[in-house]
Amino acid sequence: MQSAKPFTNRTFTKRVDHDGGRHRPPRAPAEPAVCPGCGAVYVRRRWSRAPVARLQAARLAAPVTVRICAACRRRQSGIPHGYLHVDGDFFAAHRGEIEPLLRNEVERARADNPLHQILAWSDLEGGGLLIATATEHLAQRLGHALEKAYDGRVRYGFSHENKLAHVWWRR
Ligand SMILES: [Zn+2]
Repeated sequence: MQSAKPFTNRTFTKRVDHDGGRHRPPRAPAEPAVCPGCGAVYVRRRWSRAPVARLQAARLAAPVTVRICAACRRRQSGIPHGYLHVDGDFFAAHRGEIEPLLRNEVERARADNPLHQILAWSDLEGGGLLIATATEHLAQRLGHALEKAYDGRVRYGFSHENKLAHVWWRR
């Protein structure tokens, strides 16, 4: 039996380049994949919790990879990108119907894009509600849903520097 050759630099000079030297974006992650955190499915280069995504994944008839999705990674990082502030007498009197409406809207948003998640749902002193969202868009979407359902007054404030949206709704 031959003794093992000592390592030389040459061992490391040959790089495998499947793209033949052309500049291409990094290879797309394997499909389909499923996230153990939330059950979202990765198919057609995006994460989704919509039933249609599961069908598309099943049709691929390929082995399923397990991978943490972008939303779960982001939730783990826990940094809010939006806040929805809700208060006013109308909210105090109708919170029993307003809160389910908000939760439904969150579910719809998450079906579109799993990044749209609630990070914190807290009662404010004096009877209001403060919701921290993982995306700017979700805070806006919730404010818009309240305005559409109940009128009231909605205000939007943005800070483009740190990508933070504040949405206030009151009636
Ligand atoms: Zn996930």
